Amino acid sequence: MHELSIAMSIIDIACEESRTRGDARVIAVHLKIGRMSGVVSEALLSAFELAREDTLLAAAELKIEDMPVRVHCPQCGCEQLADSIQCLCCSVCGTLSPEITQGCELEVVAMELEPMEVV
Ligand SMILES: [Zn+2]
Repeated sequence: MHELSIAMSIIDIACEESRTRGDARVIAVHLKIGRMSGVVSEALLSAFELAREDTLLAAAELKIEDMPVRVHCPQCGCEQLADSIQCLCCSVCGTLSPEITQGCELEVVAMELEPMEVV
């Protein structure tokens, strides 16, 4: 149930944000998930759909951006895409890299909020 606890903390963050803006309606939450974060986007999406019920996010959408794995290649001297998540080699020259620069993240990058209508 790893994904469910992540979904619930995303909802917590969003509710908090909504409260600081006078209970604004949350329309969407944007997330970045690295391929090496160990989180499966599909599983997180279905967990989110369960967890959002009866919260401020009941109608909110979870928008996930999949982040490919990038490494700093000592041979090329710059950041390159990794071959795969099993092999952290530069996809250009094949050199094994000791430094992952992208692909482990799991973060909320943005939120779309709509102020409550004053009736
Ligand atoms: Zn390289």
